[in-house]
Amino acid sequence: MGRRRQVYEGRAKILFEGPEPGTLVQYFKDDAAAADRQGVITGKGVLNNRISEFIMTRLNEVGIPTHFMRRLNMREQLVKEVEIIPITLMVRNCAAGSLARRLGLPVGQPLPRSIVEYYYKSEELGFPLVCEEHVTAFGWAVPQDLDDMMALALRVNDYLSGLFIGVSIRLVDFRLEFGRLWQNEDMRIVIADEISPDNCRLWDISTGEPMDKDRFDRNLGQVEQGYQEVAKRLGILQPGEMREQTASG
Ligand code: ADP
Ligand code: MG
Repeated sequence: MGRRRQVYEGRAKILFEGPEPGTLVQYFKDDAAAADRQGVITGKGVLNNRISEFIMTRLNEVGIPTHFMRRLNMREQLVKEVEIIPITLMVRNCAAGSLARRLGLPVGQPLPRSIVEYYYKSEELGFPLVCEEHVTAFGWAVPQDLDDMMALALRVNDYLSGLFIGVSIRLVDFRLEFGRLWQNEDMRIVIADEISPDNCRLWDISTGEPMDKDRFDRNLGQVEQGYQEVAKRLGILQPGEMREQTASG
């Protein structure tokens, strides 16, 4: 492939200009950052590219719009370029992470109902929790955008909770990014970025063991194995394929 213009480099991915206007290529890196350190999770980029492809393809099939177009190779996928809304939605089914800490809830306790939180997408501010008042007063999104995002997030939660339960994984919580997609005068909000163990808390149903980026953040060890196990259970990678796929590229 010829030289493409790099548009952005983030913590987990590099964005390149896509082959047609209105498209981007997402390149998935192995880099990982925790609050206190940087590191590499070998093969993470390959696995997240495949896991996010798998999930977004299914969401598209059930009519939940996403930016995903197609996977290009081991580490890259083609997506529709969107105007990213600077708010991430965190959907929670069980207490964990900052919610458990803030409210003193036992980790793993099921919540009375799914809770959706807004976070402002600013790395320098440490992605602060915000409420609807902040979002609309500062013009990050209008109330109709928030309604659309909330409805999409709850549909994704229902769909993914079932998908993961089917492979003995509990979807504890996950973080979504959204973007505005313009088609002539019309705008619709679609799911963007990635859906992978980098932004989902996934626990084995029977043991409660995390199989996601918490293994890296909390120094639990066996980080690569967590990502591989998620891919394996979803039927994305056959056991033999795994070593060779994650080693290459
Ligand atoms: P970050 O460190 O900002 O999280 P990543 O390494 O995850 O960055 O790289 C992905 C970046 O690309 C994110 O900032 C995300 O908001 C943005 N992005 C994701 N999908 C799209 C898209 N379809 N169009 C434009 N930008 C996108
Ligand atoms: Mg990111």
